[in-house]
Amino acid sequence: MANIVSIVGRPNVGKSTLFNRLIEQRKAIMDNQSGVTRDRHYGYGEWTNHYFTVIDTGGYVVGSEDIFEGAIRDQVELAIEESTVVLFMVDTMSGLTELDKEFANVLRRYNKPVFLVANKAETTERYQSAAEFYELGIGDAIYPISSQTGFGTGDLLDEVVKHFETVGIENPEEGIPRIAIVGRPNVGKSSFLNVLTGTERSIVTNIAGTTRDAIHTPYKAFGKEYILIDTAGIRRKSRVKEDIEFYSTIRSVKAMEESDVCIIMLDAEKGLEGQDMTLIGQADKAKKGIVLMINKWDLVEKDSKTADQMKKEMLERLAPMNYMPVIFASVLEKQRIFQVMEKAMEVYENKSRRITTSRLNEVMQEEITKYPPPAHRGKHIKIKYMIQLPTPSPTFVFFCNHPKYIKEPYMRYLENRMREHFDFTGAPITLFFREK
Ligand code: GDP
Ligand code: GDP
Repeated sequence: MANIVSIVGRPNVGKSTLFNRLIEQRKAIMDNQSGVTRDRHYGYGEWTNHYFTVIDTGGYVVGSEDIFEGAIRDQVELAIEESTVVLFMVDTMSGLTELDKEFANVLRRYNKPVFLVANKAETTERYQSAAEFYELGIGDAIYPISSQTGFGTGDLLDEVVKHFETVGIENPEEGIPRIAIVGRPNVGKSSFLNVLTGTERSIVTNIAGTTRDAIHTPYKAFGKEYILIDTAGIRRKSRVKEDIEFYSTIRSVKAMEESDVCIIMLDAEKGLEGQDMTLIGQADKAKKGIVLMINKWDLVEKDSKTADQMKKEMLERLAPMNYMPVIFASVLEKQRIFQVMEKAMEVYENKSRRITTSRLNEVMQEEITKYPPPAHRGKHIKIKYMIQLPTPSPTFVFFCNHPKYIKEPYMRYLENRMREHFDFTGAPITLFFREK
């Protein structure tokens, strides 16, 4: 049985900051560096060998500070019902508010262990002021913490895990590649999924404005496990073309967000269009592995050179985002569809590739010596060494004397050399430069 810990409380108390800290510290730190704020509501955490799922209700409580609307309340209550333990977060910086009291009233109706967590308590003054929250009459104690610095979170977790009945389960999807199938309407996503999974899926929803969650389907082929993520079968009934495009885009982004690798499907007859470029750009930005699948190849009049030519043109247009494999396929004629899946697996491997520090430095120092970073206003720029970070997509930190003078073209140079030496096909590479 899974242990579920939900974090509830009014907006801006620091729920997502704690969430990020609980799910995976490294990832949270990385995201800060790149200025990315993640929009995820579920994650997996571990404390003293106890595993748990964390729900951040922050994403649900949007909008106004003083309205605790019905729909929002429903979402939060759903999370509470699911939970083994609830962390009720308040803010020592702003002090007790009316909305805190409303949350307390909701929580009182459930027979769940509630921990009253007084956040932002990194100063002595705020630490002491946490006592004012006793007025809420919730929980047995107050846990002053700082989500930002991590202060007090260990003591809190020590108590939280005592409420778990089991040690829990590790991230159930850990290590299993999650592959999303995305693309514009009518490129053949549903047909592709039907062939892969052998079932007909066509769920029509009438709910206006819904962006239903992507469907995760465990799938086995070539003795390997995947999780296929798609939104293909979900169609919103609408006669308006723009509307369909819009919802399709939102759904694609959602599926992409939850994946490790995305198969971006294009229509061979139409070629690479603006919206496809946008989708590819989004996948690159989100640090996802990418496979380009050019579907409906059966409809294209071709000779032996057509595929090579088309591929070359596409990759030229995509530069510098041209590191992905391109496969010409036909779902209708079942041509190369399993090759697409094999490529997706390869990209997953490439994306998870780890290069040892010694090998990395050996290879890259030689390239740097061959073509050193250009001097800036007479300042000599020296890259001293580099490391790979233990992140889900290849990320490297270069330590140097003047990181801010390393310009875009030189970064490209380093990335290209890295791609020559190590197989990162389909995987976006991130480079950071730090002073040393
Ligand atoms: P949420 O709306 O409850 O999810 O809150 P966020 O996690 O987005 O945090 C709201 C603001 O409070 C952000 O500006 C955070 O940087 C800040 N914050 C979060 N935790 C702490 C903390 O422990 N100390 C301080 N000083 N600020 C914090
Ligand atoms: P989705 O909107 O991306 O899910 O696209 P569908 O799977 O519904 O496919 C849209 C249309 O394209 C359907 O009429 C399919 O039969 C057709 N289609 C899908 N794949 C192929 C293909 O490889 N070749 C041809 N000729 N048609 C295809």
